[in-house]
Amino acid sequence: MIVGVDFGTTNSLVAYVGPKCKLEIIPNERGSRLTPSVVYFKNEKQVLVGELARSQMLARPEQTILKVKRKMGTGHRYKVFGRDYTPSEIGGLILRKLKNYASDFLGKEVKQAVITVPAYFDDNQRQGVLHAARLAGIEVVKLLNEPTAAALAYGVHTKNEKTVLVLDFGGGTFDITLMKHSEGLFEVITTGGSTELGGSDFDEVLARWVVETVRETNGVDLATDPIALQQVYNHVERAKIDLSSVEETNIVIPYIAMSPNGPIHINLNLSRSQFEHLTKELLKRTEELILTTLEESQTGAEDVDVVVLAGGTSRMPAFRSIVCSLLPKAEIKSEINPDEVVALGAAIQAAVLEGKIRNIELKDVLPHSLGVLDDDGEFVPIIERDSTYPTSAAKIFTNAYDDQDYVEIRILQKRRGTLVDLGNFRFTSKKKWKKNEANIAVTFQINQNGVLEVSAEDLDTNEVAEVTITGGVFGGGNQNDGEMLERRGTDLEVI
Ligand code: AMP
Repeated sequence: MIVGVDFGTTNSLVAYVGPKCKLEIIPNERGSRLTPSVVYFKNEKQVLVGELARSQMLARPEQTILKVKRKMGTGHRYKVFGRDYTPSEIGGLILRKLKNYASDFLGKEVKQAVITVPAYFDDNQRQGVLHAARLAGIEVVKLLNEPTAAALAYGVHTKNEKTVLVLDFGGGTFDITLMKHSEGLFEVITTGGSTELGGSDFDEVLARWVVETVRETNGVDLATDPIALQQVYNHVERAKIDLSSVEETNIVIPYIAMSPNGPIHINLNLSRSQFEHLTKELLKRTEELILTTLEESQTGAEDVDVVVLAGGTSRMPAFRSIVCSLLPKAEIKSEINPDEVVALGAAIQAAVLEGKIRNIELKDVLPHSLGVLDDDGEFVPIIERDSTYPTSAAKIFTNAYDDQDYVEIRILQKRRGTLVDLGNFRFTSKKKWKKNEANIAVTFQINQNGVLEVSAEDLDTNEVAEVTITGGVFGGGNQNDGEMLERRGTDLEVI
């Protein structure tokens, strides 16, 4: 059984195609379809993941890890109980939790998954997710781009050539992906949006409004009381969610604090129009981000055929009005629960790979180029940006000096003018060469996950590389995750 996993910044989900080709979200042991992507270290041996972890985060923030997805593939380290953990290790604990409850639900161990990642995730970030899965004992059959998954859930791939705009407005991010689709090929034209704009910014504005109102009426500053403040955040988020379906709501929090005159109770009325007025700057920013993404790709609003909505914040009526007014000609797809659409798309891809549903051939496009540094320190691309993958390309390298028995190559990734060092690739030979004698064919292969694999062959001897990659991401932190897990990761019990 291959399941589909949406490994999200705020929440994660698992879905599968069940009997009679029915698409289903797998509930966790509490019956919830969403599992918060939160890890809480109860002690040195046990971690809680999900709702239980989220409810601890206020009491013990130093033992709680949130939003690990944002750190995947970076050198970031989390220190808990005096030990360092990589983002992949923490991500691995979340994936282990998902694997455990999905296995319990299905009555057999889940070993394989399609896992979704943002289309803009680069090689490091993809490698980070793959490592996390490996640590969780999950074989990733495919890393699927989230917007492609959302489009797949809506069956966009069954249509003729289309320009598809996927707007994924979640808790902390607003991901905009403009894609062209024809004959099973989803080509990402451009990605935009913001990693600093999401539903929690709307909560923040409302929380500030509540705190200010209490300060004005009661002279008490709730901002100085973390427990009271957390209660305010919980209630304003609920009010915001209510206002997506009703025109008016109340924020009622009894006994929120004490004042010299006795206990303070909050009882505020909030209308949808008042909420939209309070958050008008955020809504304006949302609109600007969509327009900028279209402009950057020189796509007119009238060229967009289909808009796919994903992420909880996309339920906000004000957001939907913005989308309708900016893109009046587009068909807006919003019937599927926006929290679940990415996981469901991943489950469809999983079922395709299992042969359960008819073959849909999907291809993705690489969002960055991969190459090497030449002798002058210039970046030389080997696989160009926008190449469809899986793909491979080779280049011949030689040695620079007499008596050299190795060829060393620096592998880099280039995206929007920025170079990232992925590592040094070393081919070691059994013999010593004269200057420029070696003929080493280095093959760069982008596998079905959008991840680089490198191999090398001495064309004179047919000797296949004895490869060591040092430094950068391949040779650095992520590569060590496996060892770290052996050392301590598996001794953690995930609850
Ligand atoms: P996601 O990251 O996709 O799980 O989205 C979570 C965000 O969606 C949170 O900020 C939620 O408060 C928000 N959200 C969920 N449902 C609604 C709704 N009905 N209206 C507005 N925001 C919502």
